[in-house]
Amino acid sequence: MRNPKWERDEVILALNLYFDENRGNIESSNPKIIELSELLNQLPIHSNRPDEEKFRNPNGVTLKLGNFLALDPNYSGKGMESYSKLDEAVFNEYFENLIELREVAEGIRKITLSSDYSANVSSIETDDNEENVREGKVLYKMHKVRERDRTIVAKKKAKVLSLSGILECECCGFDFEKTYGDLGKGYIECHHIVPLNRFNDSKDTKLDDLALVCSNCHRMLHSRISEVSVSDLRKLLLR
Ligand SMILES: [Zn+2]
Ligand SMILES: [Zn+2]
Repeated sequence: MRNPKWERDEVILALNLYFDENRGNIESSNPKIIELSELLNQLPIHSNRPDEEKFRNPNGVTLKLGNFLALDPNYSGKGMESYSKLDEAVFNEYFENLIELREVAEGIRKITLSSDYSANVSSIETDDNEENVREGKVLYKMHKVRERDRTIVAKKKAKVLSLSGILECECCGFDFEKTYGDLGKGYIECHHIVPLNRFNDSKDTKLDDLALVCSNCHRMLHSRISEVSVSDLRKLLLR
């Protein structure tokens, strides 16, 4: 049985090593390649690994970096032409954004290496949007972990209620209680507004990092999470 295809998170981590100035040779005995192979094995997104032994082993990582050589316009040699569409897409997205690439890779790495975060991330179910998230699944699922933290969500709602007396969507103004009466009383969702590449590993989510939104607006925000902010959506609705 074959192992699952490389996911975006994995390609991002490999590309980040490819562009690391101190990467060393692209060969399976390189300690940095071995370290990346170990990290990929811990990533909280693949539960299905038919061939455990070969899963993201140093040879596989070496081949992936060889694929980037073939995509790199600054490389005059040949490289491995067998790259996937995803390898090419990720390479082109980040080729001129190496700072962002480093931030995203660092965020994925920190979450993977923290046993708490990693366990929380693997407990988040898959949704339709996550295949298209530029920063990959780990950071997207971490976003969901943050906004499902009941304690912080309760604090956020209590604070807004004490200041304004109502819970309404910050994008469209929808008020669940106004529409649904008692049934909607106290209901609203929280969206974590810090961009995914700005992952910060402090345990506490700040109240200002959360926006109150209705379920429709929240879905729209998640459908283009890397591009559309709460204020973008508000402007769109005002047109
Ligand atoms: Zn709304
Ligand atoms: Zn959200």
